[in-house]
Amino acid sequence: MRSFIPYGQQWIDEDDVQAVIKTLKSDYLTTGPKIKQFEEKLKEVAGAEYAVAIANGTAALHAACFAAGIQEGDEVITSPITFAASANCVLYMGAKPVFADIDPATYNIHPDEIRKKITKKTKAIIPVHFTGQPCDMDEIIKIAKEYDLMVIEDGAHALGAEYKGKKIGSIGDMTTFSFHPVKHITTGEGGAITTNSKELYEKLLIFRTHGITRDVEKMTKDEGPWYYEQHFLGYNYRITDFQAALGISQLKKLELFLEKRRKYVKQYNDAFKDIEGIVIPYQLPQTISAWHLYIIQLELQKLAVGRKEIFQELRSRNIGVNVHYIPVYYHPYYQKLGYQKGLCPHAEKLYDRMITLPLFPKMQSEDVEYVIQSVKEIVGKYRIG
Ligand SMILES: *Cc1c(COP(=O)(O)O)cnc(C)c1O
Repeated sequence: MRSFIPYGQQWIDEDDVQAVIKTLKSDYLTTGPKIKQFEEKLKEVAGAEYAVAIANGTAALHAACFAAGIQEGDEVITSPITFAASANCVLYMGAKPVFADIDPATYNIHPDEIRKKITKKTKAIIPVHFTGQPCDMDEIIKIAKEYDLMVIEDGAHALGAEYKGKKIGSIGDMTTFSFHPVKHITTGEGGAITTNSKELYEKLLIFRTHGITRDVEKMTKDEGPWYYEQHFLGYNYRITDFQAALGISQLKKLELFLEKRRKYVKQYNDAFKDIEGIVIPYQLPQTISAWHLYIIQLELQKLAVGRKEIFQELRSRNIGVNVHYIPVYYHPYYQKLGYQKGLCPHAEKLYDRMITLPLFPKMQSEDVEYVIQSVKEIVGKYRIG
């Protein structure tokens, strides 16, 4: 039996280890020089004016909702096919997440569905660049301008992705990223927000550290060198310097990571494109996906068994298949809030049919080939007719 192949995993080299050790031996373990350096590099990668490194991707979303001024009574539109954090951040502000259905071709939130969900209470849109494929940003920005809405892009899957020549991280009001080990680069836990707005940038900074400012210009008075003021209710969402050091080291390998992901996606696509029973991911023209996830859809009408059986057979071959994601409003917590099944039919149909196959830069072509052969055998065995 082959050893277990997870769906995603980090890539850590000796230079990453050395970078962390060097910072551990330096004067600053947190809020030192590495954070600023990491933010400078992130700005470049995301093509943005400002970047704020933060404790994790969920904190990044929370900070972005704070900076956007989301309040109790507001509504924020997002996709149901995402990690719960994209909607939880709205609840953190006392506001209401509103789910707009996906485009069945791209699996991303559909601009027409966003329009249908806009009310007088709508304050923002959180499009999620699901699997790394950019959303239809021209349409989303157009809607946001028309209704005066903030756009917070959840770019947790999309570091290094591009939309019509623009980097993800440079388009909406703010874009959030995650550096969890399964994501494109890792800092253990970690995240960031990018923006082109100085005003939003300053709000993000202050939210990261309790809502406290030490900027004399911003304080109501100055009682002396020890003095600081808390102006908002913020959090301790700081990231450590040794995590930032790891992030800087990881960013140097981002291009390599993206190349490997694209290579394996091509290997999967070439193998599956003519296989009855399998739908491969569709990529919008004029976008470059960062390929965080590789997802196949099963054409269940052509198969004698359901998704679960195929999933389990793949797991029994030590293939770490997964399902991304359970529609957020299916969770008991959301059901108790009153969301009901049937809300987003395309998302629900996709959920019943999809399987995430392993994809990460450290895997080998042979691993990809093993997954391909296994999927082909299992799907072939159950194909009808
Ligand atoms: C990973 C992820 C997050 C949260 O990031 P953490 O760093 O784990 O807090 C948010 N949104 C999406 C779509 C994600 O995949």
